Amino acid sequence: MIEPMQDSSTRFVFVDADVRGNIVRLGDSFKQMTAPHDYPHEVQELLGEFLAAALLLSDTIKFEGRLTLQANGQGNIRLLMAEATHEGAVRGIAQLEEAAPANAFMDKNLLQLLSGGTLTVTVEARGRERYQSIVPLLGETLAECLESYFQQSEQLNTFIRLSADSTQATGMLIQQLPVQMEQDLAQRADRWQTIRVLAGTITGPELMADANSVLLQHLFVDENIQMFGETSVRFQCSCSEQRMAGALVSLGELELASLFEERQTLALTCEFCGAHYNIDNKKLTQLVTEGVKPH
Ligand SMILES: [Zn+2]
Repeated sequence: MIEPMQDSSTRFVFVDADVRGNIVRLGDSFKQMTAPHDYPHEVQELLGEFLAAALLLSDTIKFEGRLTLQANGQGNIRLLMAEATHEGAVRGIAQLEEAAPANAFMDKNLLQLLSGGTLTVTVEARGRERYQSIVPLLGETLAECLESYFQQSEQLNTFIRLSADSTQATGMLIQQLPVQMEQDLAQRADRWQTIRVLAGTITGPELMADANSVLLQHLFVDENIQMFGETSVRFQCSCSEQRMAGALVSLGELELASLFEERQTLALTCEFCGAHYNIDNKKLTQLVTEGVKPH
């Protein structure tokens, strides 16, 4: 048996169809980023799905920079955030309702956990304006919401499967491309339907257990699939003094002034990686002069 290659992103194409795909896998990167947090396992799994999805999206929406998939909710989960850069650096975090009992997360789907929430994708691309789009919560799972997002915003038929446990997270995206070689539209539609149905037969545990080549061969026996080389994925926090200063500035002048009234130096800890920063008023002024970045 060939073990799947963890912490990787692998693209593939269907050689005779206008269809592309990608499989992403997080192992050590996922463990490193979740180790300092004591998330309930349902939350950890959902965060894993968010991370896999952010990686898949960053590969699909071609750009150089950072993509953030973020859910804000009023339910037991207040914030779920996953970021991926085009270079495969990922980080993510979950914030929970403080009073939530340990069993609050059991048997609840995404919509219930995020009750009344919003889901957004933000792209910060080099040399371009930061842009944000809203993903309507039209589905019970993150994968379903993202599939309908692609359908509505890009008019691209898309299949997404996400799966995670406490130590790994995996995602597969298969997407129909604009017409290139498939000129017969009826045949093209049939072909997509077949691929989608076959893709839909894979279970989460199968997606996590099988190596990419084995998995694709089993799923699409009659298809000629070309896989490209894996690119590596790693946990890397993008925090910096500049970003911490950005978070402080976003509090507003009044709030900042009252913080500095209480103490000379603010001791800040990055929620993503646990790094510590000490910023006093002089330092903050210097950072603001140099130009701060959003956290
Ligand atoms: Zn950090």
